[in-house]
Amino acid sequence: MRLVLVGPPGAGKGTQAAALSERLGVPHVSTGDLFRDHVARGTPLGRAARRHLDSGTLVPDHVTGGLVRERLAQSDARDGFLLDGFPRTVPQARELAAVLGATGSALDAVLEFTAPEEVVVARLLGRGRPDDTQDVIRHRQQVYEQQTAPLLAHYAAILLTVRAVGPVEDITERAMAALSEAERRAG
Ligand code: ADP
Repeated sequence: MRLVLVGPPGAGKGTQAAALSERLGVPHVSTGDLFRDHVARGTPLGRAARRHLDSGTLVPDHVTGGLVRERLAQSDARDGFLLDGFPRTVPQARELAAVLGATGSALDAVLEFTAPEEVVVARLLGRGRPDDTQDVIRHRQQVYEQQTAPLLAHYAAILLTVRAVGPVEDITERAMAALSEAERRAG
């Protein structure tokens, strides 16, 4: 399965991606994790990405696109993956379609996780990552509304919406049920 997870910061994409990756047997590819790893190792890519992570702005597409292209070319991602944090803009979605199209594949579904703003902000403040301060969180929410939310219309034909409130396991079950239902409908 080739899946993309979408949702505002704090919707729990990373947590669900880890659980779903295990259930579905496909690797979890998180651009946020890949960037944080580069920052920690002090690579040139990490040095280019760092100020964007710190301020909650998007890393430029040419940097992000290369990172994703390279990761998806690895053998474990050949037959499926769960992308978390990419695409985040419509141009990135086009880039992904081109990367997949080059090998004759395409996305199977996009899972959207939804939660009320007060829930997501409370989760992020509790997490304590360096970019989880009030101001940076507010900025990331705005970036999501302005740049990422338009993806939902772009992916309307393969979009599955999951309510991301309640126990982690319940949300995973809802996501699995949505995927089964979509598979059943696709025949
Ligand atoms: P969250 O889901 O909480 O927003 P992520 O770990 O997915 O956190 O992303 C953290 C930061 O990494 C973003 O604020 C951004 O700076 C950078 N980033 C991650 N994915 C992308 C992407 N697809 N395009 C541009 N920047 C990205």
